[in-house]
Amino acid sequence: MYPEYKLADSPTQRVGSDFSDEKLQKRFLPHKHKVRLYSLDNTYSYDELAVWYEKIIKNYTSEPPQLVCELKIDGLAISLTYLNSKFDTGVTRGDGFVGENITENLKTIKTIPQKLKSVVKELEVRGEIFMPKTSFEKLNKKQLETGGKLFANPRNAASGSLRQLDSKITAERDLSMFSYYGRLDSNEFDIKSHSEMLSFLKNEGFNVNPNYKVCKNIQEAVEYCKYWDKERQNLDYATDGVVIKIDNFALQSEIGYTSRAPKWATAFKFPPEEVSTVVKDIEVNVGRSGAVTPVAILDPVYVSGSTVQRATLHNFDEIKRLGINIGDRVLIKKAAEIIPKVICVTEHSKGAPSPFVAPEFCPSCGTKLVPVEGEVNLYCPNHLGCPEQVKARLEYWVSKDCMDIDGLGDNIVAQLVDKGMVETPADLYKLTVEDFLKLDLIAEKSAQNLYTVIQNSKKPPLARFINALGIRHVGKETSELIAQKFGSFEALKNATFEQIQEIDGIGDKIALSVLDFFSNSFNNIVLKNLDLYGVKPQETQITETSVLFSGLTFVITGTLSDARDKFEQLIKQNGGKTSSSVSKKTSYVLAGENPGSKYTKAESLGVKIINEAQFNEMLET
Ligand SMILES: [Zn+2]
Repeated sequence: MYPEYKLADSPTQRVGSDFSDEKLQKRFLPHKHKVRLYSLDNTYSYDELAVWYEKIIKNYTSEPPQLVCELKIDGLAISLTYLNSKFDTGVTRGDGFVGENITENLKTIKTIPQKLKSVVKELEVRGEIFMPKTSFEKLNKKQLETGGKLFANPRNAASGSLRQLDSKITAERDLSMFSYYGRLDSNEFDIKSHSEMLSFLKNEGFNVNPNYKVCKNIQEAVEYCKYWDKERQNLDYATDGVVIKIDNFALQSEIGYTSRAPKWATAFKFPPEEVSTVVKDIEVNVGRSGAVTPVAILDPVYVSGSTVQRATLHNFDEIKRLGINIGDRVLIKKAAEIIPKVICVTEHSKGAPSPFVAPEFCPSCGTKLVPVEGEVNLYCPNHLGCPEQVKARLEYWVSKDCMDIDGLGDNIVAQLVDKGMVETPADLYKLTVEDFLKLDLIAEKSAQNLYTVIQNSKKPPLARFINALGIRHVGKETSELIAQKFGSFEALKNATFEQIQEIDGIGDKIALSVLDFFSNSFNNIVLKNLDLYGVKPQETQITETSVLFSGLTFVITGTLSDARDKFEQLIKQNGGKTSSSVSKKTSYVLAGENPGSKYTKAESLGVKIINEAQFNEMLET
């Protein structure tokens, strides 16, 4: 949505979603849980909480029941089994029925006792594995120094560390666990409530979060939520809400479960975190389309799961609207939970510097900026000679959804452009090993590697090639639709307006933009050179797709057993569509492990949620 956004340059963007666990995952053996791990229903307001509590009183009890409030840790849920007082098996939550056996890695975590204090025949303990925020910062610092992958947030770092095939690596990472559930096969200890169970677990050596509270009624629970909504910033671990449970076990079993969650518990979600920080600078970015956008450079601050150092200001009108200036204290939050944005100024800088003014000239090439009709952004019209634009286009060209030239990082692209070695994507393909050796900090071996990855990237799938061209309004999804329709690049080049526009999901605006692109003489020179250097996209087979999912829209969330792309492909091959956000028009949400906010949104809209097994069943019919 923000292709020009400079954040794409920052190392955090190179982070894999959950470390490369898609590949690793398969090597851990599946393990069926003895007792299902349910999800929790969410509540988003104090009113909703009150409704939940009232309903229980009305249907199950005359007395206001006692509650236990616990901080909801943003980590990875696991289940531990102890046999004859000894730690036996540790399994991830998975889909609640089957998880992965990660016993060996869990044995390296100090807050998981290897042996219980009492004699216990069989005990299941559930908890959340997490990485403290400070350890997360340290780990990323170390990764940066050693050239390792950076993690997006503590949860991903914990997940990546837990799924190491080599337990030694897991042991080096500072992982911890809070235990919040215990189940004894026979109740030899006469435990009658959740709070008693927590005390029992603590006595047996488990790490129980000390901040839990037994509340006499819902008012006390609401106070607890309010308190921690403010205080959570000061904790060394990430928490995104409060879990509120009915304390008494007998009452719990009377209240029972829905098909996916206990009715005797609810997860109160904190509103999105708004964090205060100082604007150190306002930078002006030039994107690949020439759009010039301001970005606030912030005092690094931790917000909703990761450290933020830059926030978008969208455009210069937004700066005026916010009245923002360098040195001001601002509130920021993550918009759509990913890109941080500045909400408002809370305190103007005392120094009273002159107000920030939009630049008249391009910060990269000095060309006079121009407005574009119907858009709020200013543009640098020097598309071919503006170094920042050239770099941004090349960075896009090599990215994963385009030509996927792994290893050609932003730093190398910048050097190639600054040294005048590369102006267009076609120039990449004539670079020799000797050329790469001219760059700073490039050894013989890396030069050879760079040469090889570029040469090996010459036959991309048609859709990725179309995407790489950076045609205005044509992104990944649209490129796939176009590739599917025309099959070959030749056919696309000769396409008429009508042919493009009749593709389902493509309108006049996109069709015009495609024609514009191919009528531009400079673009044609680049295309000719690409062809000359042997860059030839593979043809796409125009297959008559099945109509199984015709008219259906899917949204995918959470971690599935294979890459998301594979599922998207299956949906498309069967005539369905995929979307990234849930709305009333969504037909199905395909949910994997650890589904995010899309899951809850689907629930609130009443959209049907299916798991991978159900999805596969649909395919087989
Ligand atoms: Zn420029």
